Amino acid sequence: MSNRAIVGINWGDEGKGRMVDLLTENSGVVVRYQGGGNAGHTIINEYGKFALHLLPSGIFRPGVVNVLGNGVALDPENLASEIDEVAKRGVYVTPDKLKISDRASLLLPWHRELDGLEEARLADKKFGSTKQGIAPFYSDKYAKKTVLAGELLYPEHLRAHLADLLEWKNLTLERVYGARPYTMEMMEEWLNKYCERLIPYITDTGALLRRADSDGVGILFEAQLGSLRDIDYGIHPYNTSSNTLAAYAPIGCGCPSIKIDEIIGVVKAYSTCVGEGPFTCEWFGEEAERLREAGGEYGAKTGRPRRVGPLDIVATRYGVSVQGATNIALTKLDVLSYMEKIPVCTQYELDGQLTDSFPFPAALPAASPVTEYLDGWGCDISGVRNWDDLPQAARDYVLFIEERIGCRIGYVSVGPERDSIIVR
Ligand code: GDP
Repeated sequence: MSNRAIVGINWGDEGKGRMVDLLTENSGVVVRYQGGGNAGHTIINEYGKFALHLLPSGIFRPGVVNVLGNGVALDPENLASEIDEVAKRGVYVTPDKLKISDRASLLLPWHRELDGLEEARLADKKFGSTKQGIAPFYSDKYAKKTVLAGELLYPEHLRAHLADLLEWKNLTLERVYGARPYTMEMMEEWLNKYCERLIPYITDTGALLRRADSDGVGILFEAQLGSLRDIDYGIHPYNTSSNTLAAYAPIGCGCPSIKIDEIIGVVKAYSTCVGEGPFTCEWFGEEAERLREAGGEYGAKTGRPRRVGPLDIVATRYGVSVQGATNIALTKLDVLSYMEKIPVCTQYELDGQLTDSFPFPAALPAASPVTEYLDGWGCDISGVRNWDDLPQAARDYVLFIEERIGCRIGYVSVGPERDSIIVR
């Protein structure tokens, strides 16, 4: 079996979860390698509808091993409640199904609090954080001021380390934000309530993945968010604090030498964006409301209405290139069925010039979209399962995108259910 990555090409929420759920059938291991509880992957399968935040989407498949790699923001509180949540619905997350890297850093209780405090301080200049503590977590990770999951196995060392971190972090909490300090009693409670129970899941995921790779069981890397949110290549500063690219997967999983054979980039048939920052194709008013309703575009984590607009070819081509995508899954094509004409942003106008290139973040707010219109297909396509059965206009739309973004579209998704897919 080959090793594959499923990554977001745009702003996130492209439908990665449904693609991972589909493709886990041919994978022995599913790995989350970056990000944390700030995203929501929606999956609909025989157990019902789920919005997974930290758990890899392979958790529903019997026999699949799921890995939370060293690159994730491991929030014990979030993870514990997610494990309980899925158990209530008949999906049991046992230590043979979930492996947590001993090198994953823990998101500490003050990270979430600091996220909220900083967004409040920024007021109308806020980044639109989901307030899950992700930015404070990654800042501290790279400042070497967090705890590794493996330290939970060394209680004495852990408590001494936490006491040092607490003393340091309280300086910021109290003196910068005027917030209440944390105490060791609070940390003990947090350890007892959320962390102790994770101990049986902690292991050296590098060793596990090296074995899985040499046994050829098929490793599936599941990314969170999309290219335009990447810490290095995204729309700074409205990006996330981790690398959302396939190139980071080997680093973030615990096995840096692993090779990825196929990179499947997930693109939604139109654009959506949650949070702040430039969104060149944005629609407002009635037409936005209609598309938002048709696509059910409300955040899986926060319930916030997503910003919507037509497909942005300029941003998508950039996303495909930084991901190094070798195959595309185009999702939610069914949502566009109500449109008589399908709008597509094919270029930007910037400083009086037309451009095909995605601009530097500081130049992006001045860009405006150039829109072309393709024929709509005027019928429900959600029951279609074969490429040849799609209406000609729908096929033309897919082929138009394929040609403009420069990457083959191998999957067309026409509904949220596992089998609502056309494999080309
Ligand atoms: P992710 O974070 O990339 O996994 O995306 P989300 O889960 O946040 O958003 C995708 C949403 O679209 C979910 O509610 C999915 O169930 C839904 N979805 C995925 N593919 C399709 C599709 O082809 N058609 C429709 N109508 N819904 C889809």
